[in-house]
Amino acid sequence: MSFRELRQDDLLYYQSDLLTVSHGFTTRFGGVSSGIFASMNLGVHRGDLRENVLKNYDILGRAIGFDPHRLVGAVQIHKAGVRLCTEADWGKGLYVTTDYEADALVTDTPGTALMVYSADCGTILIEDRRTGAVGACHAGWRGAAAGAAEATVRAMTEHFGSRPEDLFAATGPCIAKDCFETDRDVPDAVRAGLGQDAEAAIEETGEKYHVDLKLVNRLFLQRAGIPPEQIDVSPLCTACDPDTFWSARRHGNDRGSLAAVIVCGGAR
Ligand SMILES: [Zn+2]
Repeated sequence: MSFRELRQDDLLYYQSDLLTVSHGFTTRFGGVSSGIFASMNLGVHRGDLRENVLKNYDILGRAIGFDPHRLVGAVQIHKAGVRLCTEADWGKGLYVTTDYEADALVTDTPGTALMVYSADCGTILIEDRRTGAVGACHAGWRGAAAGAAEATVRAMTEHFGSRPEDLFAATGPCIAKDCFETDRDVPDAVRAGLGQDAEAAIEETGEKYHVDLKLVNRLFLQRAGIPPEQIDVSPLCTACDPDTFWSARRHGNDRGSLAAVIVCGGAR
């Protein structure tokens, strides 16, 4: 289990050795955006020039191996809703207005690239090595505690007949426990979602808490039945390295967005 760093000109992104299909977790490097969006901003509604964002997707698509016109995104709302995506959704979120809200996307339509955005939140890419179906999940603490990761696996089972033992999952760079200082609302939500299992991910430090979002997402994937050794978790913390990653904690709202992309039927 390991993540590898890939470079192509100025572009820097990460891949997991566990996934055999085209995919990537982006950084701030390799795009054409400038100013507070420099340089690889993949958020279309953050105030960046649209032409630059589209160029960034072209750069990323050439490197990872997807057609931006077949990319599918979502309006993310920090919940656990899953959207079944087909050819009819191609371009939504980039070239076509998105007509749904969801924090996870699943598909078994070859050529479809699923994308979720983040800046500190967890992102999870899932591959079914038997059926070829894929999933992408955005899971910050609210979505994570609501079980977005588990819901993504369940949706793959429901729609594609996926068996958890055939699934491989990779969780990208996100805020790590040391940087994620919270009030009581976060551990409360995680406890509501995971019960006793939540304790391993919660540390109480005086009046505050530190919550291990990476572990919360892993526990939900395991609860859904994915074998622990088939789950890869990037150790990288977005908030520790704001020069490399977009971080809501470090940059506030004046920033770009990271993306995690996985391609159905695309061999890397
Ligand atoms: Zn950190």
